[in-house]
Amino acid sequence: MAQDDQHTDAPAAEPRKPVFDGPPLSLEEELAAARAEPEPGPTIETVNESLADGVNRCPKCGSTDVQLRASSGMLVCLFCRHQWQEERVEEELGLGVGIDELEGTVVASGAGEIDEGADDIVTLTCGGCGAEVVVDTAHAMNARCHWCRHTLNVNKRTPNGAVPDAVLPFKLTRDEAVEKIREFAGKRRLFAHPRFRKEFVPENVLGVYLPYLVVDARAEASYSGVGEVQTRRWTEKSGDNTVTYYAADVYRVDRSVSFTVDDLTMEGAADRAQFDSSTTNNIVNTILPFDTKNAVRWNASYLVGFTSEKRDLDVGDLSPKLEDQLLSIGRSQVHGSLDRFDRGVRWEGEQVDVGGSRWVSMYLPVWIYSYYQENTKMLHYIAVNARTGETMGSVPVSQWRLIAAALTVGTFLEGIAGAILVGTA
Ligand SMILES: [Zn+2]
Ligand SMILES: [Zn+2]
Repeated sequence: MAQDDQHTDAPAAEPRKPVFDGPPLSLEEELAAARAEPEPGPTIETVNESLADGVNRCPKCGSTDVQLRASSGMLVCLFCRHQWQEERVEEELGLGVGIDELEGTVVASGAGEIDEGADDIVTLTCGGCGAEVVVDTAHAMNARCHWCRHTLNVNKRTPNGAVPDAVLPFKLTRDEAVEKIREFAGKRRLFAHPRFRKEFVPENVLGVYLPYLVVDARAEASYSGVGEVQTRRWTEKSGDNTVTYYAADVYRVDRSVSFTVDDLTMEGAADRAQFDSSTTNNIVNTILPFDTKNAVRWNASYLVGFTSEKRDLDVGDLSPKLEDQLLSIGRSQVHGSLDRFDRGVRWEGEQVDVGGSRWVSMYLPVWIYSYYQENTKMLHYIAVNARTGETMGSVPVSQWRLIAAALTVGTFLEGIAGAILVGTA
């Protein structure tokens, strides 16, 4: 998996400082550098030219009643039952190849910078009757014309970040999601709560597409620190106690590793990207990973009947977090080379050099059931990964035995769970 490991363990008689690029920056400079927008790089154009804003008809009969059929993962015309699908972006945009040759920051057009002043409201002219129809793209990407009942879609890029490069369609149906939630709640005895039982009806389980940025990257990470190898161990009596001593050789340890990551999944909405355990939003992190390889070209028809949440984070906002995640992946990569330090290694300096990265924005499908707990005034969620069925929730605590379950919710699985490591060629 990892290549290019450099092992240079030297006795620590003359401690060396970790090697860095230049003189240390002040805190202000560090923060400014972290906040700085990346250099504009090459773009991958992802607009689906075969679709227009507004009316998009079934290729067979011309009806606009088109939606996703989760059981087949295809779009279906509700009038003539014709089924079809968009191309997978993996092949269409060449996202599976060339990760080890990435240079600079490559951003797909749907992951471009968001204009914060841009209006979420998009007005479409109905191609059926000419009426003006309003879509609030913060929450939906379709609307029905109230005069002629045609379904209208937002397919062209909007400056507010609402139209991504790709969409991973729902695969689990609502009934299947309800079953998963029922099972989850059953195990945690939630159905013993009369109020939960009363309010838990399938209509309250909602399908939502959440915004993510999916990143491929090529990186080199270096670590330097101190490792200890035990040479002797003995015990001495000290009054009534026995004290254990040890002697160890101390080494300066330097490691560096080059690697690539394929499809690292990062939250594209600030609300969800907060890993503060006092919020229950991070529940969605616990149902990663998604099979992002199966995402298809943007077509708003996949969103009919679902709500969506628009992206509000840019590549620049997420770059520092990408570096953190790459450092943690690198640490696990060099771990295997540290066996001889039986008393452990303490890292004192680390650095990552991102040689190249490629960013694609994507909507990922989640079934959510929310439950308001009256006494603590807290909203709890049970979320189901609508591709894998993975289910996790923050549950209302009203009995002691539920507390343990609720605590596990604070454990967030780092985005690393969504990463697939690939060796450089
Ligand atoms: Zn049709
Ligand atoms: Zn109309």
